[in-house]
Amino acid sequence: METVVYGSQLVYRTRRDGVPVNRMNIRSIFIIGNGASLKKTNLDLLIGRDSMAVNKIHKIYDRTIWRPTHYVKVDYSAFDPDDWKAEVLVHVRDGEHCLLWDAFRAGADEHDGNHELIPDGIGDFENVRYIPRCEHHYLRQAAWHPICTGLNSIITMAIWAVELGYEEIVLVGCDGRFSNPKEDHLADDYYLTWDETYAERNNTNIGMAHEIIKEFCPVPVLDATVDGHLTQYEKVRLEDFR
Ligand SMILES: [Zn+2]
Repeated sequence: METVVYGSQLVYRTRRDGVPVNRMNIRSIFIIGNGASLKKTNLDLLIGRDSMAVNKIHKIYDRTIWRPTHYVKVDYSAFDPDDWKAEVLVHVRDGEHCLLWDAFRAGADEHDGNHELIPDGIGDFENVRYIPRCEHHYLRQAAWHPICTGLNSIITMAIWAVELGYEEIVLVGCDGRFSNPKEDHLADDYYLTWDETYAERNNTNIGMAHEIIKEFCPVPVLDATVDGHLTQYEKVRLEDFR
């Protein structure tokens, strides 16, 4: 069996039939969505590997020893029931590499509609990089550019992963389908309020987002989501990474 190097880790991957996949010296990162499939996913298989999580991943922390090495949050809205500051600081204080919307640094601009929600920020930290929301963010558009925040955070995560030099992306918890806001996520209380276009809007956005990743991401993307609905990528299993 070939030895594969992921960051500092030696990792083997086999096909579902157990045949080894021959790859050498690939830096891989696991990108973790917040889909309900995480209830059926053993995230502790990712301990010691590079992984990037997003938004309210902390709602699964009482069920995992695993913690991500990278964290992204460029989304926040009036639908969010939780305090963004407490949410972000969990990751900042754990020393994760954080990519955050720059409104979280010192508050949203006074002329920005989010100023009331985000009047001030958490300041600067060595492990935090702040980025502006791009021109696509409020237009339901996105493009492969540094660093797009449009459509869905999966785009932001994939672009950041490539910018960081990772040579392969493995998706986990990226279910790719929205139906009921109480059942679509890793925790039942992920959202407490939502609007009537929630499912239709998110299904359109996530579909467009993955089509852009499929077309423009310069590194291979594999899908290890348990029973996921995405059709764009080769399906793999976390258990096949050793
Ligand atoms: Zn953009």
